[in-house]
Amino acid sequence: MAKQLRDIEPIRPLLAHRPLAVFSDIDGTLAPIVPDPQDARVTDRARESLRDLMALGVGVGLITGRDLAKAREITGLPDAWYAANHGLTLSVGGVDETPEAVHDFLPRAQAVIRETAGVESVGVSVEDKGPIVAFHYRRAASPEEARAAIEAALNSSAAAAAFRVHEGRMVVELRPPLDVDKGTALEELSRRMRAGAVVCLGDDRTDVDMFRRVTAMREGGTPGASVAVESPEATDEVMDGADYCVDGVAGVEWLLGEIVRALRETAPSGR
Ligand SMILES: [Mg+2]
Repeated sequence: MAKQLRDIEPIRPLLAHRPLAVFSDIDGTLAPIVPDPQDARVTDRARESLRDLMALGVGVGLITGRDLAKAREITGLPDAWYAANHGLTLSVGGVDETPEAVHDFLPRAQAVIRETAGVESVGVSVEDKGPIVAFHYRRAASPEEARAAIEAALNSSAAAAAFRVHEGRMVVELRPPLDVDKGTALEELSRRMRAGAVVCLGDDRTDVDMFRRVTAMREGGTPGASVAVESPEATDEVMDGADYCVDGVAGVEWLLGEIVRALRETAPSGR
């Protein structure tokens, strides 16, 4: 079970390692969950702290289920590194990368969208994320009915069979069946940053892959800590999977601010 972070002390030993990498999910972690996912935005306080971290030489990697363009729009951080679409698309030092294997799924995803168009009549919003299709049912009058309609539509869609089904907070997602997840993305970005230590933050079940990866990296000699964001929707899997927890997006803002402060205290220039 994740321990509640009440001060920065448990994290402080990690801050002595260079380069330090901070990896974070976006929705529900840096950006409050809102009724329409299109309206989500990273809070000003979180964005400022992430900018401060980058200015202090910290590698900032945003690891999200969103597509790259939307991730950049929500964060307002063009200079950060990204693993978008759950790691299927990377942006490393300003260069965007999509693996060859992912390209095949672009037309198949379009076919899924055509074949499942009926779900919109029960309040489901269908999001086209390139190789991924997301069915959001948060705004449906009856979320249970909407979720059942999504399941039925997917069962009758031939194109959907080529994808793997994942579930998140009020969302069903079809992703290419590739062995890529937020955990493999974290390790890849971390490797390319040559990270000396890692802190990661997330609120949802897909973030548990990051938490597990941080644990594995720690066992392999790279110090790190995982932090779960507590919310009324956080599952036991999320809360059990992380080393520490903070309360909501406000807790994340607090923690990022504390890391900035601690790094400034130890910076040679005294900034
Ligand atoms: Mg999230």
